[in-house]
Amino acid sequence: CGIVGILGTHEVAPILVEALKRLEYRGYDSAGIATINNKVLDRRRAVGKLVNLSDLLVHEPLAGKSGIGHTRWATHGAPSVSNAHPHLAGSVSVVHNGIIENFKELREELAVQGMSFDTETDTETVALLCQHYKAAGHTSAEAARKTVERLDGAFALAFLFDGEDNLMIAARKGSPLAIGHGDGEMYVGSDAFALAPLTDQITYLEEGDFAVLTRTSLQIWDINGNQTNREKRRIQLDS
Ligand code: GLU
Repeated sequence: CGIVGILGTHEVAPILVEALKRLEYRGYDSAGIATINNKVLDRRRAVGKLVNLSDLLVHEPLAGKSGIGHTRWATHGAPSVSNAHPHLAGSVSVVHNGIIENFKELREELAVQGMSFDTETDTETVALLCQHYKAAGHTSAEAARKTVERLDGAFALAFLFDGEDNLMIAARKGSPLAIGHGDGEMYVGSDAFALAPLTDQITYLEEGDFAVLTRTSLQIWDINGNQTNREKRRIQLDS
């Protein structure tokens, strides 16, 4: 029930876990992170408390300075390691809060194209659809954009792509999402509190916004597909 994402300049796994801890208050049944190390995506996931994920990371560390993380409150598919986020399909990884209402239709469409499914979640459909658009020749940002346009329901999403460690996509519809600005770093979080140890410079996405982030840039398109500017505010939080 929480999302974080970091394009950073330090090893990101422990920072992701710390940020997820700040989202624990929302409740969750499992958690996971994915990072890009030497351009290669990898992930670790665990059922139960975040300490289980931290313990796993002690034994099977994840290196890398770009990453996404998730605490899950299962809506589709039991709480299990394979249903935990981040989900992977080809070169796409995604974390998602909310529900994709039309995932069954999308799943059928993808099944016809010969794609197979590893999980019972609505979210895996998002990763597969995005991979489908990438395979058709679209850039990662275009593929994510086309994917988000197909989704009904409520969601906050963050994407990372294998081979692209300076790109993160964030999209918001019906679930809040904050972008944090660091010094040569960029962050995504379900709320500003999750990001408070990292930055107090926050841009809130608005309903229907689609954002393309690098370490040094943030571009946002509104619900009508027009590129737009959103205010960057200084958010003071007690932490
Ligand atoms: N619907 C997704 C799932 O069940 C996301 C749930 C959430 O918001 O954590 O995996």
